[in-house]
Amino acid sequence: MPELPEVETVRRGLERHVVGRRVETAEVLHPRAVRRDPGGPAGFAAAVTGRLFTSAERRGKYLWLTTDDGEALLAHLGMSGQLLVGPPDRPLSPHVRIRFTFTDGGPDLRFTDQRTFGHMTLVPFAPGAPLASEAAPSPGALPAPGATPASEAPPASEATPAPSVAASPGVAAPPSVVVPPSVAAPPSVVVPPSAAGLVTMTGVAPVPDAVPPPDVMTAPGTPVSVLLPAPIAHIAPDPLEPAFDAKAFAGRLVRRHTGIKRALLDQSLISGVGNIYADEALWRAKLHWARPTETLRRGEVTRVLTAVHDVLCDALGAGGTSFDSLYVNVNGESGFFDRSLAVYGREGQPCPRCGTPIRRDPFMNRSAYSCPHCQPRPRRAHR
Ligand SMILES: [Zn+2]
Repeated sequence: MPELPEVETVRRGLERHVVGRRVETAEVLHPRAVRRDPGGPAGFAAAVTGRLFTSAERRGKYLWLTTDDGEALLAHLGMSGQLLVGPPDRPLSPHVRIRFTFTDGGPDLRFTDQRTFGHMTLVPFAPGAPLASEAAPSPGALPAPGATPASEAPPASEATPAPSVAASPGVAAPPSVVVPPSVAAPPSVVVPPSAAGLVTMTGVAPVPDAVPPPDVMTAPGTPVSVLLPAPIAHIAPDPLEPAFDAKAFAGRLVRRHTGIKRALLDQSLISGVGNIYADEALWRAKLHWARPTETLRRGEVTRVLTAVHDVLCDALGAGGTSFDSLYVNVNGESGFFDRSLAVYGREGQPCPRCGTPIRRDPFMNRSAYSCPHCQPRPRRAHR
């Protein structure tokens, strides 16, 4: 499943190739791709047509394109979703679910999804963001945390190799869309006209001294204020966005009474961290995945957060992790962070730090990979 670095890689491609362009046609080729849109395939296509995309945003594993009339085209890539940009006349893969063409006649945008767990929908922004210091939010602004759409994914078929679908022959090979942070144009924060009176997310969140600020990612290229699409208003900030409050996270973490890995996967606590990067971050922080959060010392929480931040940035710098060619940027290119993984998927292979064979434990219908020497099992353990 694509995690934050893979999704951010796609967002940067959309920012570069799609933002500033107006939709001429939208064609839904498979109704499941718009199953969450109340308009259905025809209504979705009609509603998107004519919209101008004004920015590309992300929270956790969700992506959205803001439109000139103040709505959001929200996308979740599910298990195998791709957003690909290329010449409009290239062959149409059988896995293309939605195709967008633009009034400038340039490259089109295709939502391709072999396993059809991904989806797109046109949604309003949430009225009233959840800021404690603000007036009471409107009723209905905060969906129940249990409704996280990630749960729609089936349990874990890690063993199932997904056949390649990425190599569409006609896809041009333009330069990589991974734009170095120093080059990325900061997307302007678009406050739609209809947003008058709405509360935007806070700007740069206070970060306690103990936790290094995520400066690598939040310098240019990251909006300082983001309105959230209504369906994802309950999802916690991810560690690469300015709204992420490390101190608040630390406080909520130790009150959770759960295992640290389970907490890292909880999208209402911290978003964008999935199985791969949770294992990698815990290895870097030298903490066992079942360590009870209530026993974490302050320095350990800082270590975990720093490790999560660093592993996400490292993976982003490599264009993400691709075990097969399903996770690609908008030009169909795979990332190469899989070469840098220390523990994930490496059962029996030597720990890069101490040489001890990596162990694999069953975890939530999936796996947890760790080093028995660097990450000893705690006496008390949560699963
Ligand atoms: Zn080790």
